Amino acid sequence: MPMFWIMLAASPFIGSFLGVLALRLPEGRSFAVSRSACDHCGHVLAARDLVPIASFLALRGRCRYCHAPIGGFVLVIELAAMLVAGSAGMQVSGWILVASCLLGWMLLLLAAIDWRVQLLPDVLTLPLLMAGLAVAYFVLRETWSDHLIGAVAGFAVLGAIALLYRRLRHREGLGLGDAKLLAALGAWVAWQGLPTVVLWGSMLGLVFALVRSMTGRGVQWSDRIPFGVFLAAGGWLVWLYGPLMPALR
Ligand SMILES: [Zn+2]
Repeated sequence: MPMFWIMLAASPFIGSFLGVLALRLPEGRSFAVSRSACDHCGHVLAARDLVPIASFLALRGRCRYCHAPIGGFVLVIELAAMLVAGSAGMQVSGWILVASCLLGWMLLLLAAIDWRVQLLPDVLTLPLLMAGLAVAYFVLRETWSDHLIGAVAGFAVLGAIALLYRRLRHREGLGLGDAKLLAALGAWVAWQGLPTVVLWGSMLGLVFALVRSMTGRGVQWSDRIPFGVFLAAGGWLVWLYGPLMPALR
C-alpha cells in the first residue's frame, strides 16, 4: 500500500514532465531543464509557477507575467498521469505497480505525442518493447515466450496492414509507428491480449471519428486518425483488466 501513495504523489510531477516532453521531443528542443520559461513571453518561471495542477488553477491557466493562455495540454497530462497511478493501484501492488505505472506513463506520453503531431517515436516504442520483455522475463518466466510471440505478432499484423494499404492506396494510412506500438504492447500483454487491444483501439477510434463528425468536423478518408492514442488506451485496459475472450486469459 505505501508504494501506491508514493506513485500517486509522484504522478502529477511525472505528468508535468511528460507534458513538457510531449511538447518538446518532436521538435528536438531541450527538455533537460523542465518548463523553465514561458513559451509566449520567455519570462523565466519561478518554483511557484511550476507546481503541477495547483499553479494552473491559481493562475487560471494564464502566464503570471504576460497573461498568455498556458498549458491546458500539460494540465490534462498531469491529471491523466494521476489516473494511471490510481487505476493501476486498484488492480496491482508492489513492484508490479511500479512497472504498471511506468508502462501507463509511457503510453500516456506516446498518446500525447501521437495526438499532437501524429508520430510515435522509435526512441519511445522500442525501449517500451524491451521493458515489456524484461518484465515478462523476470516476473512471468514460464510464459515468457507468449510475450515474445506477442511482440512479433503485434508488429507483423499492423505492419502487414500498413504495407497493404500503401500498395492499394499509394499513400500512408496506418504508420509503421502503430505497428511498433502494438509490438511493444504485445510484449507486455502477450499474444493472448492482442485481439482485445486491437478491439478496444478500433472501438475507441470509431467513437472518436463519430464524435468528430457529429460536431461538424467531418472525417475525410484522407484524415489520419491518431490511432496510436486508442491503441495505447486499449493496451492499458488489457494490461489492467485482461483480454475479453475468456479462453485467452
Ligand atoms: Zn508569459
